[in-house]
Amino acid sequence: MSINNWLYSIARKEIWDMAAYSSARSELADAIGLVQLDANENPYTPYPATPELANANRYPDPQPKSVLNRLAMIYGVNVNQILVGRGMDEIIDLIIRVFCKPYNDSILITPPTFGYYKVAADISAIKVYEYHLDEDKRFAITSEDIINNVDITTKIVFLCTPNNPTGNIVDLQVIEDVARNLPNTLIAVDEAYIEFANINSATCLLDKYPNILVMKTLSKAYAFAGVRVGTLIAHAEIIQLVKKILPPYPLAEPCIRVINQMLSPFGLDLTNSRIKELKLERDRVYKHLIKLPFIKVYPSESNFILVKFDDASKWYKKFLNNGIVVRNRSKDIPNTLRISIGTPEQNNLVLKTFGIDIATKNIQERRSLVVRKTNETEIIAQVNLDKFSPIKIHTKIGFFDHMLEQLAKHGGFSLELKCDGDTHIDYHHTVEDVAIVLGEALCNALGDKKGINRYGYSIPMDESKAEVLIDLSGRGILVYKVHYTTPMVGDFPVEMVEHFFLSLATHLKAAIHIEASGYNTHHIIEGIFKAFAKALGLAIQKSNNDILPSTKGML
Ligand SMILES: *Cc1c(COP(=O)(O)O)cnc(C)c1O
Repeated sequence: MSINNWLYSIARKEIWDMAAYSSARSELADAIGLVQLDANENPYTPYPATPELANANRYPDPQPKSVLNRLAMIYGVNVNQILVGRGMDEIIDLIIRVFCKPYNDSILITPPTFGYYKVAADISAIKVYEYHLDEDKRFAITSEDIINNVDITTKIVFLCTPNNPTGNIVDLQVIEDVARNLPNTLIAVDEAYIEFANINSATCLLDKYPNILVMKTLSKAYAFAGVRVGTLIAHAEIIQLVKKILPPYPLAEPCIRVINQMLSPFGLDLTNSRIKELKLERDRVYKHLIKLPFIKVYPSESNFILVKFDDASKWYKKFLNNGIVVRNRSKDIPNTLRISIGTPEQNNLVLKTFGIDIATKNIQERRSLVVRKTNETEIIAQVNLDKFSPIKIHTKIGFFDHMLEQLAKHGGFSLELKCDGDTHIDYHHTVEDVAIVLGEALCNALGDKKGINRYGYSIPMDESKAEVLIDLSGRGILVYKVHYTTPMVGDFPVEMVEHFFLSLATHLKAAIHIEASGYNTHHIIEGIFKAFAKALGLAIQKSNNDILPSTKGML
């Protein structure tokens, strides 16, 4: 049977036969360069005249190609296998309405699970079959559990992996077995949390099983819950059919702009490091909690942890009293609370509520992450003062990369820095802005500065000599006495070295004194960076005490 014949046999006939709403934009999506008098839009841009609203008077592309292309790349599928909507919630609603006939058809869900499948089915007068996951089996699911609980009316099986609120995954093999055994039922796989799990996406089964639908969201891992972006990934013919009933223009113009920014290489870098951090934090919290005899903790592959208590409502109040709101899931699973993973500080507050008191300084490496974007440069920098690696620098200026690598290497800290700047003009903006971001990142990572050496000095020598003194005093000052014999090293203007250290001193809030002399300009500059690195490395080092190195009481 061809895909279309098969699809015709399982989709609602009225959807198949209806004509989709035809908007001006969908008929002529690209009207740029033309006088647009086809959609009764207002020709003026609205107030306020911010860049975000520059095109707000125009209807947006109903399925913006820029967004589709980026999502297709991230999810590893073809553009024609993708549809975007207002969060995954809308995707769930759409597929139910395309495939389930009201007062006749059914879906199967596996509670405890995400609540909106049932709500969307109820709205459309679709029966909801339930296979209840067994708490004693740690909510595991087999293909038989599914296959034995559907009938001829069951059009969609919803499988959530990792599952909300239990945190466990559905084996890919189970999904495949179900898809193979139920070829006329759609298997809708909800991967809202998959970025936090170490499993493959069910998208790898799409070629073999056209009855598999994969649903994604930017809400959780991509921190975009407020923007509302959900994605359906399915066979191209299914996407075409679902598109027919998609209410017009699901993504607002300003949202399309921010989605594209967030899904840029810089945005993705940031997202990935945050995901890594959240996974580490989840595992840290879990390791503490499983030691407690008075609770039961479920292993989680997502960004939350389900905990079972003797008396969950008592604990719910306890959390509230500590200023934390968690989710009481006791209606589905008796005496359980679902706790989202937050920042390390927030998680420590959670642990404190359990009676585990972790002094923040002990668990926490001195880390920071700074992102800065202007019309001239886009920079992301991550610093960890308590790790030696990784050191990864990309500024598009070879010499500068080399110097920054020296700085981190000899300073004894991890630095990942990427800058996309207007180096086609000159190196000024890149060097200055990198210094700003690096200074901020170091300053943030230093935090309260308790227990550090504060002062540092170094006098390394080559055929040139460089001396650098530093005081992490809280005041940005540069004293710079360097004589160069040439104005350039390769294509790098040596005047930028002073500019770099001035910006760095300002944003690191440090007094930096630099004196250097010599014959070879490359050596002089390299000497300065190395001496600075050594001095900084010494200043940021922690001694064993926890004393603020200042008689004033603050730095
Ligand atoms: C949060 C969540 C969603 C909703 O995603 P949106 O894109 O924000 O609508 C879907 N499924 C599960 C399992 C969720 O936890």
